[in-house]
Amino acid sequence: IDHDVLDDMERFEQSFKNITQRYRLINRIGEGTFSTVYKAEDLLYDHYDNSWDLDDDKENINGNSSNHKQPPRQPKPKYVAIKKIYVTSSPLRILNELELLKDLREAPNVCPLITAFRHQDQVIAILPYFQHKDFREYYRDFTISEMKVYFQSLFLALRSVHDCDIVHRDIKPTNFLYSPTQQRGVLVDFGLAEREGTDYHHCACCMEPPDRNRKIQSSVYASSLAAARAAGQPMPPPSYPNNDQRSSRRANRAGTRGFRAPEVLLKCTAQTTRIDVWSCGIILLTFLSRRFPFFHSADDIDAFIELCCIFGKKRMKDAALLHGQVMQTNLPTISENGHGWEKILLWCTNRNKKDGSGDGRLNAEEREAVDFMNRCLELDPAKRMDASQALEHPFLAGVGT
Ligand code: ADP
Ligand code: MG
Repeated sequence: IDHDVLDDMERFEQSFKNITQRYRLINRIGEGTFSTVYKAEDLLYDHYDNSWDLDDDKENINGNSSNHKQPPRQPKPKYVAIKKIYVTSSPLRILNELELLKDLREAPNVCPLITAFRHQDQVIAILPYFQHKDFREYYRDFTISEMKVYFQSLFLALRSVHDCDIVHRDIKPTNFLYSPTQQRGVLVDFGLAEREGTDYHHCACCMEPPDRNRKIQSSVYASSLAAARAAGQPMPPPSYPNNDQRSSRRANRAGTRGFRAPEVLLKCTAQTTRIDVWSCGIILLTFLSRRFPFFHSADDIDAFIELCCIFGKKRMKDAALLHGQVMQTNLPTISENGHGWEKILLWCTNRNKKDGSGDGRLNAEEREAVDFMNRCLELDPAKRMDASQALEHPFLAGVGT
């Protein structure tokens, strides 16, 4: 272990009162935007009687036992992951993460919260340590059958999360710890998760299509366009933010670049659990294209343009209109109809050769995977499949039976 890591672990042990009485830090295993995660051994492990579920909870490091009757517990693991949440995170945010994890303690393939401690302004969450492999080590070699097992595990987790009306918001490979040997993964990191409908505001996408059209017709911008067209004038150029008359929109855009659903990029104010299904589609795209990351945009506008290059101007305009946004572009790289997945995937895997070295087609197994991916990457969230439909899709139905 390198010196910096050892120093960091020592500082943590010294600053967090009594932690060394309960845990022996082994290594630092993650350093994210919101936390540092350590692998540790639970020194009280030998004291547990793991033969039945414990229902009394004497967890508090500093000796206060809680009187709350706890739900039946899993056997205590010997190795744990200690997630040290940065003190700069707001108390509400930390509480939100811990509360959602508490709600999800029974959910299959969701890494359960064992307990949490606070010392002064520092909060740590204790999770069972899950042995997994780094995504970068396997995504290039996965067969379609291995992808099926991976996605069945991921969608089982997602279905239970969504059944609790929770949106994860940050589905990506580093938040789904997968073990190819165990053929199982666990979903972690509910730091950005929220209950569906939090900050909900009406969005054009919630309306029936006829109403939606009327609403868009009446929007200031759309009607000025219509007036310009009727008068035979050229379309006004898109205005810069400082003279744009439209009221600015606020919507939750939390998540990770390249994994954000179009409705997130379009600042839809009525986002649903379907945004997570989109992110799963992006992971599958990574496997099938053997490129990670597949999208690497600098910002949301860039990310939108990347989608336009693939889906084409026509479909992206429709997707924008769904949320009451008018899209205009003069970028020459964006074609009217975009490109099909088959062509893109063959190109990414060097099989588009016209000289006969590639057969120029995806095989039946791959086409089924692409169909599944297409259902995840449906631009209209209302038409995108949900997690239970995903589990019933031929790509996943019957996996492991
Ligand atoms: P952040 O909010 O900082 O992204 P995460 O909860 O995603 O925090 O954890 C960061 C990293 O720590 C993960 O990507 C993973 O590598 C590691 N990690 C987190 N939880 C566990 C666990 N239970 N078992 C093993 N490793 C974990
Ligand atoms: Mg994370």
